[in-house]
Amino acid sequence: MMDVRDIALQAACPVIAAPRFGPLPDMVNGQRIILAANGVFVQVKLDWLDCIQRLSPALPIPLPYGGIEERLTFTFGVLPIRLIEAFIEAGRRGLPNEVAGALIYSRRSRSLRLALCEPLDVSPHQIDYRMPAMDADETLAVDLHTHGHGLPFWSAKDDRDDQGIKVAGVLGCLHQPKPSALFRLVVNGRFLPLPHPWQADTTAAHYPEPDLEPGLLRRILSFYQGRRFGPWNT
Ligand SMILES: [Zn+2]
Repeated sequence: MMDVRDIALQAACPVIAAPRFGPLPDMVNGQRIILAANGVFVQVKLDWLDCIQRLSPALPIPLPYGGIEERLTFTFGVLPIRLIEAFIEAGRRGLPNEVAGALIYSRRSRSLRLALCEPLDVSPHQIDYRMPAMDADETLAVDLHTHGHGLPFWSAKDDRDDQGIKVAGVLGCLHQPKPSALFRLVVNGRFLPLPHPWQADTTAAHYPEPDLEPGLLRRILSFYQGRRFGPWNT
């Protein structure tokens, strides 16, 4: 007889084997580990996110399981450039200080809204902020902050603050016509760089292309990058 505590723990993070012939079974919101022929993966599902990321390469024994691919799907489709531009405008109004905001996903409307965060302690070099109030059907999807006039980068404080599951974005050089930015998916302490239209030429060399399945997000963002759209076009 299994200990009830183990039953609860394993229900919170089950392990499944990747099917070899059929599709991967659906899952409810939460996290599970998938043991596949080509590695060990974690799948995370939220109202706004369905993400599979490889944790380790194939185990050193032949397994009779199927192989799976990494994937990243946002329920809202693509990162909404219009809302991020609205945040950039708020960031400019807040210069020289940093500004924080959030894109909040509503399960009911299946859409995102921008909310600015109330600063608790703010300067041109850092910001501590309170997350906006959310309705019962809402969850934080994208956590945004600015670096004011400075370059966007992930500070040690950003790494400490980026917990749980969300997209994080930092925007810098807001005094310039084209600000620069970094975006990343945060999954329980793991960070996955995301492509975006505010790719700075100066930081591009240090910003590797993510190892993602070519999804809608990537195709659309590549389109924007390929067309060299300015940050103010949607
Ligand atoms: Zn920062």
